[in-house]
Amino acid sequence: TFISFEGIDGSGKSTQARRLAEALRARGHAVTLTREPGGSPGAEDIRRMVLEGEAERWSARTELLLFTAARRDHLEKTIQPALDRGEIVITDRFADSTRMYQGLRGGLEDQVDILHASMIGVEPDLTVLIDIPAETGLGRARARHGGEQRFEDMGLGLQRQMRDGFLRLAAAPRFQIIDGTGDPDAVAQDVLGAVLARLPL
Ligand code: C5P
Repeated sequence: TFISFEGIDGSGKSTQARRLAEALRARGHAVTLTREPGGSPGAEDIRRMVLEGEAERWSARTELLLFTAARRDHLEKTIQPALDRGEIVITDRFADSTRMYQGLRGGLEDQVDILHASMIGVEPDLTVLIDIPAETGLGRARARHGGEQRFEDMGLGLQRQMRDGFLRLAAAPRFQIIDGTGDPDAVAQDVLGAVLARLPL
């Protein structure tokens, strides 16, 4: 079973992915918890090249190719082997993040779709979208990363565009939208309830 978490920066999706992994392990399931960009040694190298290098080093198209290469490696080396062992795989971000960041924000939506279809070709069984208002997410992200050199402050307009884009994607049946504005324990309970209701675990 393959589950992804998506949401805007500051939505709390990383915390919630970890909380779900802990809750499912406590119920006796074998869980691989992973993340993107990254999640395999090669993909983590690519993450460093893109996120820790100079800001303007790669063009939008090259960045899309690098993130697609990272996802391919993550799929081959981490996700597929864990699924083949019968484990539940939980990933903090997957292809929907590329649809938003490189596709919607980068103006490359068609190219994202073509690369996904030819190079990745799989979607999660369930995608949990942790939804919060753009203002809340930006406030949390600024509080966490504000002083860091490579923190990319998207500004409220772009953050709103990302939230709306995720909500449009979430019309697809594989999505579960969870309100992420409450405290982390309450959100974690909502996530676990939805996952147990929707998946034959
Ligand atoms: O989820 P995490 O905080 O590790 O992501 C780090 C940053 O990478 C995000 O803030 C986002 O700006 C960027 N990112 C991106 N394209 C993706 C995934 C993440 O630009 N496909």
